[in-house]
Amino acid sequence: MKFGTKVIHAGIKPDPATGAIMTPIYQTSTYAQESPGKHKGFEYARTKNPTRSALEANLAALENGAKAICFGSGLAAINAMLQTLNPGDEIIATNDLYGGTYRLFTKIFGRFNIKTHFISMDQPNDIESYINEQTKLIWIETPTNPMLNIIDIEAVCAIAQQHGIRTCVDNTFASPYLQTPIDLGADVVMHSATKYLGGHSDVVHGALVCKDETFAQELFFLQNAAGAVPGPQDCFLLLRGIKTLHLRVQRACDNARTIANFLKEHPKVDQVYYPGFESHKGHAIAKRQMRDFGGMVSFSLKEDTFEAAARVLGSTHYFTCAESLGGVESLIGHPASMTHASIPREERLKVGLTDSLIRLSIGIEDIDDLVTDLKQALG
Ligand code: PLP
Repeated sequence: MKFGTKVIHAGIKPDPATGAIMTPIYQTSTYAQESPGKHKGFEYARTKNPTRSALEANLAALENGAKAICFGSGLAAINAMLQTLNPGDEIIATNDLYGGTYRLFTKIFGRFNIKTHFISMDQPNDIESYINEQTKLIWIETPTNPMLNIIDIEAVCAIAQQHGIRTCVDNTFASPYLQTPIDLGADVVMHSATKYLGGHSDVVHGALVCKDETFAQELFFLQNAAGAVPGPQDCFLLLRGIKTLHLRVQRACDNARTIANFLKEHPKVDQVYYPGFESHKGHAIAKRQMRDFGGMVSFSLKEDTFEAAARVLGSTHYFTCAESLGGVESLIGHPASMTHASIPREERLKVGLTDSLIRLSIGIEDIDDLVTDLKQALG
């Protein structure tokens, strides 16, 4: 099955009770049992829900994995992934990653004596010097948030495999339409499904997709034992959003290309971070491991101050100043004071996340309106 067919059909069958084409929202917490222990495969909705099961089957197919496990948010999914570790274990993670992931790794799992080395993965071989007996997980986010660096998934996973270390790729920015990390050697793919998968900024949701069934069982145990499950209505919204994933993401990629080129020529703009540029240091890798270059563009201003950035953010009409990304509508954000405020300034600056850096999540509106909006806001 090709991708555009999978989004609509994989894991989804007409409802056996009524023939309803759309998977019903099974809004129930429990299920009748014919006699104790004799049931139809569903006992209690934290453990299993048919709307969630359809979504998990669909996500597993989209990422070419064995099984998907869904959670109430992206961070709940990351939390479950980290709960497979033990005190004393170590993680090697991308140094330019979502602020909430950084916070979870350092402020919560740090307390349980799980240490994370945040490193640039530009040169995959550099990872070797951080690997020791305690290293149990390599965490990759690519394209990175918000600097849009590209990490060579295949190269990093090959090193991890040599050392028997598990890899997990946060695929939120790319979505499975653009990139399928399991095909490149990853063990687990993580999603903030809140973003491109949902696609309409109306649901918070997370998922882990596993290459192998055995590890999926471990995560399934955690999903049930810790209980951070999504509700059935949210799973329905995800199923609905995913049906147009390929169309939405392609349109966002096309719009992003035009906007990146517009920004590059603008006299008030300093740097434009967009992996579609041939001059971008990760361009060749992006071309190899992604179908297109994504709908995210970040840029800094020549006047590198918070005030200059705030003026731009306060002047757009169609780009709404808001956190999050991946919806049909365009958003504009200031990572230093919004999504990445939990990262200390000196850490931010090390990766180029300056005070004026602006991040755009480009939606699927008419491109002429988007360019006009940015032109007047920068002017
Ligand atoms: N990973 C990335 C790349 C994100 O951008 C986000 C949220 O912005 C998350 C993880 C966390 O997901 P959620 O907000 O659904 O908990």
